[in-house]
Formats: sequence, structure tokens, C-alpha cells
Amino acid sequence: MAGTHIKRNDTVIAISGSDAIGRKTGRVLQVLPDKGRAIVEGMSLVKKHMRKSQDSPKGAIVQKERAVSISNLLLYCPRCKKGVKSVRRREAGKKMERQCRLCGHAFDA
Ligand SMILES: [Zn+2]
Repeated sequence: MAGTHIKRNDTVIAISGSDAIGRKTGRVLQVLPDKGRAIVEGMSLVKKHMRKSQDSPKGAIVQKERAVSISNLLLYCPRCKKGVKSVRRREAGKKMERQCRLCGHAFDA
């Protein structure tokens, strides 16, 4: 696998799986490169039943994000207003930058 194209705090959009319905976008909370997965805010929510505790004597149900496959995600370009492929460019004396392949928007600026 050729490295991950997304990083923490990127805004991404789901292109397949149940989150693709409604074209959900979210912020990347964590990237798990070994697994090829990422945890995206508000995406792929699973309900978790919490045990009874002092704070919630009846127990509680919390929603938690499950890691989604990075291959199901695209970077969301705010200029194109859709998920796009990025290209990597290195300009003289600068760090590697990811740019939108369609409009050239710099994701790492
Ligand atoms: Zn763009």
C-alpha cells in the first residue's frame, strides 16, 4: 500500500459504505496506518451500552465512531465542494504538499 493520503484533522467524505448515503463528511480524528483505517468524527457510529455506574445508575448508551477503511474515504475539497483525489507536489524549498487534482487547492497550507 502506498501510504495514506489522509491525515489527522483532514475533512474527508465517504465514497462507499453506509456513510456514503447522504455523502457524509467529517473530520479525521485518528489515522491507523497499519490497519489502513481511520476514525472520522460522526462517521460509522456504533451504539455502545455502558455498564451501570455511579454517574448513570441505569446504564447508558453512547455513540462511538468505528474505524472506517481509508479506501472508502476521499479528501473533501472546499473549493470543488466534493471528494477529490489529491496529488503530491514539492515546490523548491518547501515541504511536500497535497493539492486537489482538479483545482489545485492546497490541503496542507
Ligand atoms: Zn478542488
